[in-house]
Amino acid sequence: MLCYHAAVTTRALNEIETKALLAAAGVAVTPTELARTAAAAAALAERLACPVALKIVSADIVHKSDAGGVRLGLASPADVAVAFDEMMHAVRARQPAAHLDGASVQPMAPPGGVEVIVGVSVDAQFGHVIMCGLGGVLVEVLQDVAFRLIPLQLRDAREMLTELHGFPLLRGVRGRPGVNLRALEELLLRVSKLAAQRPDIQELDLNPVLAYPDRVLAVDARALIEVQR
Ligand code: ADP
Ligand code: MG
Repeated sequence: MLCYHAAVTTRALNEIETKALLAAAGVAVTPTELARTAAAAAALAERLACPVALKIVSADIVHKSDAGGVRLGLASPADVAVAFDEMMHAVRARQPAAHLDGASVQPMAPPGGVEVIVGVSVDAQFGHVIMCGLGGVLVEVLQDVAFRLIPLQLRDAREMLTELHGFPLLRGVRGRPGVNLRALEELLLRVSKLAAQRPDIQELDLNPVLAYPDRVLAVDARALIEVQR
């Protein structure tokens, strides 16, 4: 029995791979493609339409911003080419040992979305657990998050949102429009279904999902998958 466990390890899925997994499960993500050179990044920016975001792709880097590996709001393909080289230099200076695959290119999501985080993890006793919370300072400082076991029912998805202390930000407060709560519930259900179908998923993070009055959109994602050695 122990031999079986020793033969199991995990593999990180990068932003592009994880977004492909999510898109196949019906979760809206920003279309995101890999560029290995500055010229390729500029060509992708041309095709995807500026402004775009450029992010480091490396299995050795989990927090891209902390590594100097996120550039937002690049206005033209020429800007993208310059930013690509700058970003590669900046990341290499900070993490010389990291293997860099290139950079992801994706359209900037519109401003004004409420940042939500959604995660899946494995509890030793209960198996897959899904988490959601409001992004940024609310999660980091106030730990305002809700957890449920998978599979999720619609009622659970609803309760997860309403029990957040920050729920008024989602419902709309003081003239700020609320977000599409149905779309957010649907996203939670689709992530739950994906995890239920994929017992090899050890971790799945959508951080952030941007929630708007009309829709929701995941702009960053990563996963950890169990693999046989
Ligand atoms: P990381 O979490 O690895 O540092 P992210 O991809 O989450 O990197 O990018 C950092 C932040 O940049 C996000 O929290 C979000 O606020 C913003 N961001 C990332 N991608 C986009 C995008 N496509 N459109 C708009 N904002 C984005
Ligand atoms: Mg992120």
